[in-house]
Amino acid sequence: MIQDIAPHRYDNTYRDLKPEASDYALCIMQNKTLLLCGEETQAAIPCFSQILPVFPEAFSKAVYLFSIDEKPYFLVEPSEEEAPVLADSSAAPGLSWKGTQYFRTMEPAYQSFAAITATQLWRWRQSRRFCGRCAAAMTESRTERALVCPSCGQTEYPKISPAVIVAITDGDRLLMSRYRDRPYRGYALIAGFVEIGESFEETVRREVMEEVGLKVKNIRYFKSQPWAFTDTEMIGFFAELDGDDTIRLQEDELSEAGWYTREEIPDDDVMISVGSEMKMAFKYKTWDPDAS
Ligand SMILES: [Zn+2]
Repeated sequence: MIQDIAPHRYDNTYRDLKPEASDYALCIMQNKTLLLCGEETQAAIPCFSQILPVFPEAFSKAVYLFSIDEKPYFLVEPSEEEAPVLADSSAAPGLSWKGTQYFRTMEPAYQSFAAITATQLWRWRQSRRFCGRCAAAMTESRTERALVCPSCGQTEYPKISPAVIVAITDGDRLLMSRYRDRPYRGYALIAGFVEIGESFEETVRREVMEEVGLKVKNIRYFKSQPWAFTDTEMIGFFAELDGDDTIRLQEDELSEAGWYTREEIPDDDVMISVGSEMKMAFKYKTWDPDAS
């Protein structure tokens, strides 16, 4: 999965650090990230020394994010006035702006994980520039990863929305679906955000009923994963069909859904999501819930 970066080690302990020239600089603007790009999916996150020539303000616009293998990564947030200079690719040879979908396949994968995690923090900071209670400009906390209102004291933490993803099984069959109106066109599992007042298991039952009109039983936790593309923490479950297998499709969300045997489940080329791992765990019988 996207967060499985071993032997590299991700450390998100908050530190009030200042950047040095050799530290990584994730410069993000309008949901695009500045990278040093090589062949096809090969890319590198630039160090401050590589972006300072085109953006001398980089040090003063830096916020510490996290470290990987004890090397610090910083978010660099240019202002809107600074954007046109940075957007001129001739001013920054070798550097180019990449949208978040690029990180689905970028190599090396641990740098892709760093970059996509940075974009989640960037989106959160952009959407919390002013206090939601009193509208004062938010300031940086110096003690934790948070924004604080200097006027009323309101504290905002990074936006992480929990969502469940469910592999519904019926003997040798797995329920898979395709989304309507989403860029991902492959087979997906049923998924949905946790609503107010719900346990994860209740979300599983509600989402399965809403999207495909089925009852499930024997809900068992599989694994979870951060999914920064949608500011989500995905919590994966297996569940067994309970009773009637007739699918009643929620047509504004899904374009199709059906039961597939193990042999009919296609192999996923990219194994970055917990959904892919669950499909393959079912297909190849690599997960025994009763063993854990
Ligand atoms: Zn306030």
